[in-house]
Amino acid sequence: MLYVVRCSERGKEPHAAKNKLRNDIADRLRKAVPTAEITFDTGRIYVEADRDIAREIAAIHGVTSFSPAVACDIDDLDRCFLETVQPCVHNKSFRVKVRRTGKHSFSSNAKAAALGAALLEREPTARVDLTQPECVFTVEIRDRSCVVCTSITAGIDYADAEKEGHVAGENAADTEPRFLVDAMLGTLASRLRAFGYDTAWRRDTADSLLLREAHEEGRIVLTQDRELSEIGGTSAMFVHGKTAEEQLREVMDRFHLTPSEENLFTRCSLCNAVLVPIEKSAVQDRIPQRVFDTYNEYWTCRPCDKVYWKGSHHGEMLAALRSLQKG
Ligand SMILES: [Zn+2]
Repeated sequence: MLYVVRCSERGKEPHAAKNKLRNDIADRLRKAVPTAEITFDTGRIYVEADRDIAREIAAIHGVTSFSPAVACDIDDLDRCFLETVQPCVHNKSFRVKVRRTGKHSFSSNAKAAALGAALLEREPTARVDLTQPECVFTVEIRDRSCVVCTSITAGIDYADAEKEGHVAGENAADTEPRFLVDAMLGTLASRLRAFGYDTAWRRDTADSLLLREAHEEGRIVLTQDRELSEIGGTSAMFVHGKTAEEQLREVMDRFHLTPSEENLFTRCSLCNAVLVPIEKSAVQDRIPQRVFDTYNEYWTCRPCDKVYWKGSHHGEMLAALRSLQKG
């Protein structure tokens, strides 16, 4: 059995300290399971054992979390993912997380969406839930080698690392703020979604409900209502800007965010759902003929059935993104 073991390496710590932590964990693992084969990668230890060693790993200091995993080559990822996760997901909600290093033709979000869509096709009783899924499937891609994990178990040092927000190897998408935008900032909400940020927009919600929802879902309230921003404290931001461009820049600056091209149009600007790729042949009767003749790549939003392609709006958003990147 293969396990991915995550440890509480701090990003800012010098290499020597990280190496020491990993070596200490490896030593304890070797002591607990002498036959285990141990290899390292940034923020990760891979352990191959001939039996179930979850109990041994869970007792080792420095381990923040671990997962039983299945390894495969990138060319075999889709098949391996479906075979590994399908038995877990009957009648359940799920979310797919992809982390990726190395050069690839796809973004993490696009890969996660494609794997999720393939799983839905294979297992129609399952459903996607990005906020409180019953199953979280993690795919880690490092150059050509991939691992698929069907569950994450907390290690003995999980609480400490979580509290300090330092679980090694978590990528930006997992730590980026999520937003809840008030009625007055609809354009800002759709821009944030176009840039791939998880953004809820509420039109007719009382302030108290808005704040409660934001709290429950871990969202930051963006508002032009001074009073609401004061009541919301650190989980609310008063937005000064008059135009959507000014507002967007303010939000990016405040949270030190740099929008990236690979996240552009990964969410539905109407409802915030993550877009999934769709075959050109499946959208022919839902789009104008001239669009069909011009574009080959399409995405769809399952909740609102809207079809997306890299049309003129995409060009405008790309220009907006470039101007934000220039600062
Ligand atoms: Zn939608």
